[in-house]
Amino acid sequence: MTEITIDKACCKGCLICLNACPKGIFVKSKRRNKYGTTMPDLKDPEYCIACRMCERLCPDGAINVEKKPGREQDGKDMED
Ligand code: SF4
Ligand code: SF4
Repeated sequence: MTEITIDKACCKGCLICLNACPKGIFVKSKRRNKYGTTMPDLKDPEYCIACRMCERLCPDGAINVEKKPGREQDGKDMED
């Protein structure tokens, strides 16, 4: 299980993350940050495979992916 967060203050709305994610978890939204730029939304984040491509490709370091121990792995989360 992973927790994906997008820092509103850093995201400039380039939407590179939409193409970066192999699972299509980032989608366009109508949400805007305080600078008026479009923020992505997350769709079905439970399908995240923790590949961290979104983190690597976001030019503004706005995405954080954190692995959490999940029931499906019986509490034994795999190492990076
Ligand atoms: S790649 Fe980063 S800066 Fe660009 S829209 Fe996604 S989160 Fe925002
Ligand atoms: S870690 Fe990989 S699968 Fe998860 S949201 Fe980012 S790009 Fe998509």
